[in-house]
Amino acid sequence: EMFGQLTTGLETAWNKLRGVDVLSKENIAEPMRDIRRALLEADVSLPVVRRFVQSVSDQAVGAGVIRGVRPDQQLVKIVHDDLVKLMGGEVSELVFAKSGPTVILLAGLQGVGKTTVCAKLAFYLKKLGKSCMLVAADVYRPAAIDQLKILGEKIDVPVYAEGVDVKPAEIAKHGLEEAKKKSINVVIVDTAGRLQIDKSMMDELKEVKQALNPTEVLLVVDAMTGQEAAALVTTFNIEIGITGAILTKLDGDSRGGAALSVKEVSGKPIKLVGRGERMEDLEPFYPDRMAGRVLGMGDVLSFVEKAQEVMRQEDAEELQKKIMSAKFDFNDFLKQTRAVAQMGSVSRVIGMIPGMGKVTPAQIREAEKNLNIMEAMINVMTPEEREQPELLAESAARRKRIATESGKTEQQVSQLVAQLFQMRVRMKNLLGVMQGGSIPALSN
Ligand code: GDP
Repeated sequence: EMFGQLTTGLETAWNKLRGVDVLSKENIAEPMRDIRRALLEADVSLPVVRRFVQSVSDQAVGAGVIRGVRPDQQLVKIVHDDLVKLMGGEVSELVFAKSGPTVILLAGLQGVGKTTVCAKLAFYLKKLGKSCMLVAADVYRPAAIDQLKILGEKIDVPVYAEGVDVKPAEIAKHGLEEAKKKSINVVIVDTAGRLQIDKSMMDELKEVKQALNPTEVLLVVDAMTGQEAAALVTTFNIEIGITGAILTKLDGDSRGGAALSVKEVSGKPIKLVGRGERMEDLEPFYPDRMAGRVLGMGDVLSFVEKAQEVMRQEDAEELQKKIMSAKFDFNDFLKQTRAVAQMGSVSRVIGMIPGMGKVTPAQIREAEKNLNIMEAMINVMTPEEREQPELLAESAARRKRIATESGKTEQQVSQLVAQLFQMRVRMKNLLGVMQGGSIPALSN
């Protein structure tokens, strides 16, 4: 089971919070040590673990109680969200060239699965409707060229090769020319790996990179190597400049350290992951799904999310009470409209207020549009007029004055007054209060 050990290690932490009422500095101390240990055992690098634990602790201590959610569940959610952040948050998509072929240069040490990734990537891109070509620029292992040809045949993708006597940068350039002639969408270049980083490999990679001006330079790293993978990504990025990493062998008993550390340590995202030896086993790296797998608690996560949603609903109810208890004059009108405008879409806020969803969205959307017009009119009202909208309902002369002073039409003023009374009525109806409730006809 992938991340099995990490998942089990973290479970120790949650279990220690059973029976606790609220997360506190004291009661999270021991669980946080368990989390720290679990991450270190998963081979996440120490500085990353330190920052992570600190961040989670701060949030846990500051977290308010969510009704119906146990503190251990709350901590699971905090850890999840921070894991997602740690892994870069959003999925980092492959970039394609705006014109001409997209060139993807693959680098990596020997045995990490680079040649396999070349073919897997072509297979993956073909499914996205892109035509691909593989270029064999690993001139030190004739077997690697043969391997690429065999894989290319298997997935029906052309392989460009010139044997082992031509310089890799030349092969790469010729391959790209060939691809242009054939209007190929994506060229994937396999380069030579070594058992360890050495200068000649880096120099050669630099040369190939310079010859190609690639859209993506991806370092293939083996998940089994844990934090070493993150260190490699850093080194390659500093030496040749890369756009991201592909993490292979995430199936099996990978401890997870690489998946968790690469972004944080190197600043470069993991773009794709290999999860098996078949051509199908390459997929985009989704930080949220990965965090979900680490925790193995999808149900808890969605439950906490729902509870948080309910909390937001309760905030909305609070807002509703405020609106309704106000006697609601033009001052409130202005205040509410401004507040609502600040909160973003009026319709969205209204949608959150129970019972109001069906009654007012159209009207309020209109109000949102007319905010400036309304403000201009309310601004020229006297304090009495603002506090007693009836004065305006009763006097056409007052409405006319407001129209003149605000530069609006009398009809617009009348509409504003009518709107206010309509809102009062709606609010009273919603409250179930029987007093009042009629819209006064505007007298002349
Ligand atoms: P290269 O030296 O980097 O080109 O590595 P290869 O592509 O030849 O792969 C080395 C070995 O790793 C091969 O036996 C592959 O089948 C295997 N391999 C590659 N990717 C994965 C993966 O995602 N999962 C597993 N389990 N094996 C993989």
